Amino acid sequence: MYVYEKAPAKINLSLDVLYKRDDGFHEVEMVMTTIDLADRITLEALEEDQIIIESESRFVPNDERNLAYRAAKLVKDTYQVEAGVRIFIEKNIPVAAGLAGGSSDAAAVLRGVNRLWKLALNIDELASLGSEIGSDVSFCVYGGTALAKGRGEQIVNLPAPPACWVVLAKPAIGVSTATVYKKYQGEKGEHPNTSSMIEALEIGDFKQLCDNVGNVLESVTLELHPKVRQIKHQMAQAGADAVLMSGSGPTVFSLAHQETRAQRIFNSLKGFCDEVYLVRMLGYRSNT
Ligand code: ATP
Repeated sequence: MYVYEKAPAKINLSLDVLYKRDDGFHEVEMVMTTIDLADRITLEALEEDQIIIESESRFVPNDERNLAYRAAKLVKDTYQVEAGVRIFIEKNIPVAAGLAGGSSDAAAVLRGVNRLWKLALNIDELASLGSEIGSDVSFCVYGGTALAKGRGEQIVNLPAPPACWVVLAKPAIGVSTATVYKKYQGEKGEHPNTSSMIEALEIGDFKQLCDNVGNVLESVTLELHPKVRQIKHQMAQAGADAVLMSGSGPTVFSLAHQETRAQRIFNSLKGFCDEVYLVRMLGYRSNT
């Protein structure tokens, strides 16, 4: 038996860090939404008690370090499942990019093994399991658009953004999320207006949404990697309605209401940056 799951990438429309908690995590407020750039996950039931990970990508480990493996293992251990699973990951989302590719694969595996092993867990139970794997996994279990609080695992569903185009540019640099958070100096710099972003989604106002994109981690990554600043500049010059770094980077995205404008931004980035994508905003909950 086979089960197929789509694992879409997310972007942060806003990312705010409120304070550092006693447990070492940062208390955050993030508005996240899914985009039409996705890994494809195929799960095959195995009678033997094993988890096999397969992927053609040379950037992800095919063993217990893979977040997809950890998701399957967590479900097996929690619900004493004796069957096994072979997980094939078609990797389309750039790795270590700020797009939650690994988290989305893990979330897709949680949804997938739930169906494959007929466990009948509800989506909230799957999201709660997801929070044990990583801070972004709960959001990815639901998909769509949401406010994520706590360390990212407390999810409040929000309306999808107005339809628009998203251009993504990922420079060939590695950014460690842990380093960026470590270097972040809370008090300095501007904070995004999260309430105004939420209001923009609730009333479906694209301009208000664009006016309120913001990410407090951006200044840290810009300082470390000047190329990210150049990409931002290039996108703004090409007429983007909004430009922002996603997560801890290094991917920068721009939003454009008009397809011709999005195409112009895309063309201006080609050759300037290794990986460039032009996709639609997704924003609603639909994962399979
Ligand atoms: P986030 O936006 O949540 O910070 P990210 O997009 O920056 O995530 P990922 O693509 O999820 O980062 O990868 C981060 C690290 O996790 C990589 O170093 C990679 O080797 C490891 N990893 C483990 N499993 C996976 C997977 N299935 N897909 C991608 N990376 C994975």
